Amino acid sequence: MTQLAVRSGAINLGQGFPDYDGPDEVLEAARAAIAGGLNQYPPGMGMPVLREAIAEHQQRFYGLSFNPDTEVLVTAGATEALAATILALVDEGDEVLTFEPFYDAYGAIIELARGVHRTVPLRGDDFQPDPDELRAAVSDRTRLILVNDPHNPTGSVLGAEIRDLLVELAEQHDAVLVTDEVYEHLVYGGERHVPLATLPGARERTVSISSGGKTFNTTGWKIGWITAPAELVSAIVQVKQFLTFVNGGPFQPAIATGLRLPDSFFDGIRADMERKRDLLVSGLQAAGFAVRPPAAGYFVVADAAPLGYEDGAAFCRRLPELAGVAAVPISAFCHEELAGEYRSLVRFAFCKRLDVLERAAAQLAGLKV
Ligand code: PMP
Repeated sequence: MTQLAVRSGAINLGQGFPDYDGPDEVLEAARAAIAGGLNQYPPGMGMPVLREAIAEHQQRFYGLSFNPDTEVLVTAGATEALAATILALVDEGDEVLTFEPFYDAYGAIIELARGVHRTVPLRGDDFQPDPDELRAAVSDRTRLILVNDPHNPTGSVLGAEIRDLLVELAEQHDAVLVTDEVYEHLVYGGERHVPLATLPGARERTVSISSGGKTFNTTGWKIGWITAPAELVSAIVQVKQFLTFVNGGPFQPAIATGLRLPDSFFDGIRADMERKRDLLVSGLQAAGFAVRPPAAGYFVVADAAPLGYEDGAAFCRRLPELAGVAAVPISAFCHEELAGEYRSLVRFAFCKRLDVLERAAAQLAGLKV
């Protein structure tokens, strides 16, 4: 869809990357690191300054305490953190449970590990899993429960009962919880992100994953991290060593600077993104889509059925020509068996400048006629 957007000159609300830069302090810290000669391989676990900043961040926002020397690992984005974790912990035939729709890398990495990908659908307007379906999907064959919260592509945040149930099921079946929390600082409506690792009994069996891309508008830097008990980190680092070994030397201290920014920065990006969400949601509603404001993240899911488009994939292929806007069908985040349930739904990104979102909303308004 990005290629289609570029080819047709459409406004790209397909792929989730911001079209504006993050905080000056972070950009400046990267420039200073390059000028200061931090251009060679950093240590395998990541630069101490960043590992310490990650541990401080987990303490400051969530009251979680991690030893920066043994329980924090810097990775090439959340993507490598996911890959190294899954490849390290999953043997052929082990089951990995995710929600569906799921971030596309999950399916591919589970396949690389020769694991079995099981899913529980997210249902209803607020995209929540059904507790009974969740219970039925976890068994002693489940090695990992991979939880993306806040969720891409739906923008949902798990309810408290589901979070409790996930921990209970992991304990009952001795599964490891892996969390993908890359949208942790973009939760709206006055709510705050609750990491699974903060729940009683969860920390010792949880690999928490996040990255700097979404928080500091540096998706191209690919600085991610894991916080987990030392035994899990040492298993994961053995795989990570042969995936990338290390990456992004000068960007590591820059992300450390970002993680240490004052609360006003984190409040500011949340409020700013919430304004963008509201603008795009009202634009989509005015254009005739059925839309509910997402609870978190970069994306809003819109139903194209009220506009007469039942097939979201076909709709997305035509949208650049119809309205000069690109979006992604939710079916792209599903296995074939379940894709039908989400057939008329499409995902739009709102991590764009306000003037771009206003232009997109004006162009989409033309769909109604
Ligand atoms: N997980 C989710 C849910 C995402 O949306 C993304 C980015 N689109 C990633 C992981 C990848 O993060 P990174 O760029 O840090 O590898």
